[in-house]
Amino acid sequence: MTGTESDFSAGKCDACGTTREPFVKVSLGKDFFGRMYDRLSPSSDLSPKWYCESCSLHKNLQRDFRDIRAEFDKLSKGQASEIAGADQLQRAHMRLQEIAAVLKGHAVGSGLIDLADVNALISRMQVQVGSQSVSG
Ligand SMILES: [Zn+2]
Repeated sequence: MTGTESDFSAGKCDACGTTREPFVKVSLGKDFFGRMYDRLSPSSDLSPKWYCESCSLHKNLQRDFRDIRAEFDKLSKGQASEIAGADQLQRAHMRLQEIAAVLKGHAVGSGLIDLADVNALISRMQVQVGSQSVSG
């Protein structure tokens, strides 16, 4: 009845299985585009995931990567997208490069996110950014 979560954890990371503390419960909140993160159904929210420090970092990167990829896919299909504007596209592109840089620096096999996938999306997006670049 205390409502505190930090004094109880599963004892191991849900991604890589390490038992080395500390663990972080990845909480819901706003996504990269400022929308409420509602991808998890209420039922799966009843069993929150616990991650070690590096995996919780990866989890956040994975979340942003997935959101950006989904929006970019919409953009490619000519649908309404959060990154339809040049500024938003630039911002998403920069975030992907940030993600790639972090992944390169962390050779941790959490399996949550693949650097090759991120790089592939960056290349696809680069074409788009180039074609939308503002002159002057
Ligand atoms: Zn882990």
